[in-house]
Amino acid sequence: MKKSKVYFTPIDDSKDINELKSAFGKIITQSGLLNNVGEGEFTAIKLHFGEEDTDGYVNPRAIKVLVDAIKKKNAKPFLTDTNVLYKGMRSNAVDHLNLAYSHGFGYETTGAPLIIADGIFGENEKSFSVKGHHLTSIKTAAPIQYFDNMISVAHCTGHMNTGYAGALKNICMGFASRAGKQIQHTSTKPTINGDKCVLCKRCMDLCPENAIIEKNGKAFIDKKKCTGCSECIIACFKHFAVNISWSEGIRLSQEKMVEYALGILSQIKNKVFFNFAVHVTSDCDCMPKSEVIADNIGILASADPVALDKASHDLILAKMGKDGFKDRYPEADCKRMFEYAGQMGLGNMEYILQKI
Ligand code: SF4
Ligand code: SF4
Repeated sequence: MKKSKVYFTPIDDSKDINELKSAFGKIITQSGLLNNVGEGEFTAIKLHFGEEDTDGYVNPRAIKVLVDAIKKKNAKPFLTDTNVLYKGMRSNAVDHLNLAYSHGFGYETTGAPLIIADGIFGENEKSFSVKGHHLTSIKTAAPIQYFDNMISVAHCTGHMNTGYAGALKNICMGFASRAGKQIQHTSTKPTINGDKCVLCKRCMDLCPENAIIEKNGKAFIDKKKCTGCSECIIACFKHFAVNISWSEGIRLSQEKMVEYALGILSQIKNKVFFNFAVHVTSDCDCMPKSEVIADNIGILASADPVALDKASHDLILAKMGKDGFKDRYPEADCKRMFEYAGQMGLGNMEYILQKI
């Protein structure tokens, strides 16, 4: 199979906003990846706006560079994401928008409107068919079917299901409705380590199924009620007492994620993917105060999300000199996800890196 092209612009100092903007502008222009964006076309810029107490999300001032490039083509850019499962600041569009604005994603900074694609409460959902080995349909934000262009801008991070996360996770989880997110997680039901639990009850407050009860002075998960949404893992970010039972299906969860990405991307005519391999954190941007494990690598871009994620992962590992994602999540191997994505025709693990 022909290798996919991945463009790469290095970054020396990710905190230097002028350098970040200049590098983003360079890769946008010289990659030519926006060439297919046409006049008047609705162009979704898929982002993660961060969570409370996180700062790993892509700087909104850099996003303006992309918005301006799309506007130059007389297209209609807008920033978008979907609501999440847990009862945090992104579980409804009102809180989600307030959070995004507090992180600087307002029109005055980015130059684009911000739209939560699945509605105020996650109700704007639609099912689409997919030919997967595990799934025949997916549940996503309904408007994806009307996007002329979708530009993913992902921050590279660690992730509990995949070890590493970038473009693929930005799409499969990022455009899934709340039910769709749950379906991708259902095979990874967590357990609580009583030795670490201090019974702060945060997980009990956030569990959407009320599946966590107090037992012998510790939190305890009722597996009959648990849907495997994994949000209690995020809730327990201070004590790390909640563990996923990896043996119950981490691989299945990854394969469902790939099938979601496949179904979502098949709805959209023109797709472009950018990965920011800067300020790379051990956990995804839903997790507060996660550790920076690599920085100052660069921005990568491609029309192939699999090649892009593989190249990003390779460059991050080279920068770290070890596999810091495996240190954090030993059994969540992203390479299996890349391989499955390749088998399903989502992209190519083989790539040519073109430095810009
Ligand atoms: S959030 Fe963690 S420490 Fe707190 S009750 Fe739940 S498992 Fe225990
Ligand atoms: S106990 Fe189950 S349903 Fe409740 S937050 Fe954890 S994974 Fe989700």
